[in-house]
Amino acid sequence: MNVDLHSHSIASDGLLTSEEVAARARDGGVDIWALTDHDETKGLAAARAAAEGMGMRFVDGVEISVTWRAQPADKGTTIHMVGLQIDPANAALQAGLKQIRSGRDERAERMARDLEIAGIPGALEGAKKYAINPELLSRSHFARFLVEAGKARNTHQVFGNFLTEGKPGYVVHQWATLPEAMEWIRGAGGVAVVAHPGRYRLGGQQLGQFFDEFKDLGGAAIEVMTGSHTVEQYNHFAEVARCYDFMASRGSDYHGPGESRIEPGQLPPLPSDLTPVWHDW
Ligand code: AMP
Ligand code: MN
Ligand code: MN
Ligand code: MN
Repeated sequence: MNVDLHSHSIASDGLLTSEEVAARARDGGVDIWALTDHDETKGLAAARAAAEGMGMRFVDGVEISVTWRAQPADKGTTIHMVGLQIDPANAALQAGLKQIRSGRDERAERMARDLEIAGIPGALEGAKKYAINPELLSRSHFARFLVEAGKARNTHQVFGNFLTEGKPGYVVHQWATLPEAMEWIRGAGGVAVVAHPGRYRLGGQQLGQFFDEFKDLGGAAIEVMTGSHTVEQYNHFAEVARCYDFMASRGSDYHGPGESRIEPGQLPPLPSDLTPVWHDW
């Protein structure tokens, strides 16, 4: 069974429509596919129709932006929580996602001001041209503008020099809290999955504290095989899943041609002793 439970469309910062991502998933041999746009579910209906028309099983998903603090006084780390098998019609989930999306506009204005101070004017208008969903202005859209403006060769290079901590265009932002995101996902009938746990700037002890809190809040799964992990991280987070008794997920985090290392369905399989998050679907 080829399962890919993490991908993006133009409803957030992907480059392709729901239908186009579905076709990529089918071409990659995917049997069960989830679309998981950032803080947004409006691509799901079209994705489901396309997937089912192609003979794939579809899973309604979302990737929620969270700010987590190890201590109340910490500056906070952005962590992504994937919700799978959610009911997109759930009112509390929709209200929560809308609230997170609304913070993005003011953040984008601050990012553009910071870039202007660094000698790069016009970034807000430039980024908006790439945001098909006006409610979801993302750093990826700023990255595409910075490539267009000749500031980097590709979006990957942008994130090395801009838009990340300590670099021009980075601003601190408060997303949802971990308990909020867990409540929205679980309240909508979904299962909460820690996205790409190897990508966060947390030491081992802090990441352990995060997993403890996640588990206490009913968290049951982490991504082990993801397009964001190295081979060493596949092994490390497989071991974390064993230690915490988490189920394991697999997802390419596909954003579109030229912006993703791994096409849908192309990751290695999960280690066979782990319990896949889809085991009882
Ligand atoms: P945002 O939610 O607006 O902060 O944007 C986050 C998105 O930016 C992620 O979901 C990725 O698509 C992209 N991104 C963040 N960091 C990097 C990176 N180092 N390389 C490539 N893309 C990145
Ligand atoms: Mn993204
Ligand atoms: Mn993510
Ligand atoms: Mn993602």
